[in-house]
Amino acid sequence: MADLIQIQDLKKNFHVGTGRVLKAIDGVSFSIREGETFGLVGESGCGKTTTGRVLVRLYQPSGGKIVYKGKDTSTLSKDESKEFCRDVQMIFQDPYASLNPRMSVEDIVAEGLDIHMKLTRAARRAAVHELLELVGLNKEHAGRFPHEFSGGQRQRIGIARALASKPRFLICDEPISALDVSIQAQIVNLLMRIQKELGLTYLFIAHDLSMVKYISDRVGVMYLGSLVEVADSKDLYANPMHPYTRALLSAIPIPDPDLEATRQREKLQGEIPSPINAPPGCKFSKRCPHVMDVCTKVMPEMIELAPGHTCACHLYTKK
Ligand code: SF4
Repeated sequence: MADLIQIQDLKKNFHVGTGRVLKAIDGVSFSIREGETFGLVGESGCGKTTTGRVLVRLYQPSGGKIVYKGKDTSTLSKDESKEFCRDVQMIFQDPYASLNPRMSVEDIVAEGLDIHMKLTRAARRAAVHELLELVGLNKEHAGRFPHEFSGGQRQRIGIARALASKPRFLICDEPISALDVSIQAQIVNLLMRIQKELGLTYLFIAHDLSMVKYISDRVGVMYLGSLVEVADSKDLYANPMHPYTRALLSAIPIPDPDLEATRQREKLQGEIPSPINAPPGCKFSKRCPHVMDVCTKVMPEMIELAPGHTCACHLYTKK
């Protein structure tokens, strides 16, 4: 499969006063193939949501390049920009906060239609009904308001809204983390079904590694604004290489009490440092149980350790 989007050395800085700079994204590179789901995981504050927001143009990047369908997005013409905005949509984390409580479901879902297409009133209504049915709601819901729905139903409305412009690429920013556990699997299954039916490409941002494993073809692990490991989903979970990935995976409980009691855990020590004051060299060095002298001086580069499996750690570069 060809790449739909390539992210090359992406940077996003925020100036936080008194000359200090918060490096939310610090030189991240990865690509997403047409039709696949790329999971982006890491603790809160690692830059994964900021990455999604830069890709959907809610934030301007501070450096690097985004290449979409072979074109640098910073050089798109007016028409190409419009097409990009139609093609790339976002599903937000909080279905309560992301829907305007004063708008009916019909008007919320039709926002994308109103921006990108000129439809008659009847055609607009028919398109909204079709979208509601696609996400497991029905046309009777169109005249209601967000407060009349449960969290899972609101997220379905958010998904219908994102699909209105007929996008090719959906950025799903922690779409299940605000939902009850019992509802999470329903929303993930819905996203997987829609992807198959419409041939969509997903960037799935999450901190819950167990759900990311279920939905993703490939996974990237972020730490303090940098990617530390990228691999096929199965490969990453079977053979994690980076100490941070191993610690994240070992925090997932195994649903077998005997295995759970005997497994060896790699515990994460301490808190994630501030991205305003990241440690020199490897950013994970202050929490890593394998830290060496070189780690505090030299930033490790991403290297390919197996086909399609890359990792940034001196454990694999030192000789
Ligand atoms: Fe740990 Fe060093 Fe690898 Fe960083 S580079 S993860 S500190 S071993």
